Amino acid sequence: LKAELQKFKNLLSKTADGQEKLIEANIGSPSDVETVIENGGEGVGLFRSEFLYMDNDHFPTEEEQYTAYKQVMDAMKGKLVVIRTLDIGGDKKLSYFEFPHEMNPFLGYRAVRFTLDRKDIFKDQLRALLRASAHGELGIMFPMIATVDEFKRAKAIVEECKEELRKEKIAFNENVQVGMMVEIPAAAVNADKFSKYADFFSIGTNDLIQYSIAADRMSENVSYLYQPLNPAILKLIDLTIKGAHKNNKWVGMCGEMAGDIQALPLLLGMGLDAFSMSATSMLRARALMSKITMKEAEELANKALATDDTPEVIELVDAFLATK
Ligand code: PEP
Ligand code: MG
Repeated sequence: LKAELQKFKNLLSKTADGQEKLIEANIGSPSDVETVIENGGEGVGLFRSEFLYMDNDHFPTEEEQYTAYKQVMDAMKGKLVVIRTLDIGGDKKLSYFEFPHEMNPFLGYRAVRFTLDRKDIFKDQLRALLRASAHGELGIMFPMIATVDEFKRAKAIVEECKEELRKEKIAFNENVQVGMMVEIPAAAVNADKFSKYADFFSIGTNDLIQYSIAADRMSENVSYLYQPLNPAILKLIDLTIKGAHKNNKWVGMCGEMAGDIQALPLLLGMGLDAFSMSATSMLRARALMSKITMKEAEELANKALATDDTPEVIELVDAFLATK
């Protein structure tokens, strides 16, 4: 089986009828890139920048960050690398910074909410990212965007950093893509509005599911509710993809669901453009994709979107996969 999958290592990700997609990897540190290349990744769909902050005793400097980002850009040799700005708070703490105590940290001061408030910290990261953009194809991505205004404010700070770099005559890519995670239901519902401003979306299902179903992603007690194939989740994904495409923007997914074999035909059918997953899941996904036509995926997705509840979706998908 492993040898069978190896055949897909140097192939493009395509459906049975030749529709091209991207299968990419999620990484947590520059040292993960090797595995991405070994497994034929077509890019990095999510580089979580938290490690730079968490495995440290101070907020990383612009220079420290630039070195780490450049390392990934260089290794990926011009393939798209999406780096997410700091997603701290919630359950992710820092030894050298005390977050305010909150009743519901997952609904509180975290991610872009924190960096918009701490422009000094945000700018160090954005300048490092812009400088790294000179070394390949970079996408800058903001986590936990809830309103269009937040996106605009974050984007304005990118523009401010660009202006500084221009004045300092430091190289960066003027056309660097600036996008956002869709992991808050409000952003999924209004995706067609956000896509007027964002260059791309990446759907973060890990959080999108927890916030939509009000079920903590870490809680065993309510794990029965945490179902990616819940038709309500499928509807939010469908809205997000349609909302992106309405303004000709591409949309990926970097939550766990992107690497889920049961979800793959549905995501294809809804029109997802890029699938970012753990590096070791990529070849299996590429192999399955090669057996599915867009037409049958679309039919399956439409049926799934019309179901009443998760078990019906699972039944549809399993029957479909049994024919592959
Ligand atoms: C997500 O929420 O789906 C996601 C990819 O981000 P994280 O798992 O880091 O919250
Ligand atoms: Mg998330």
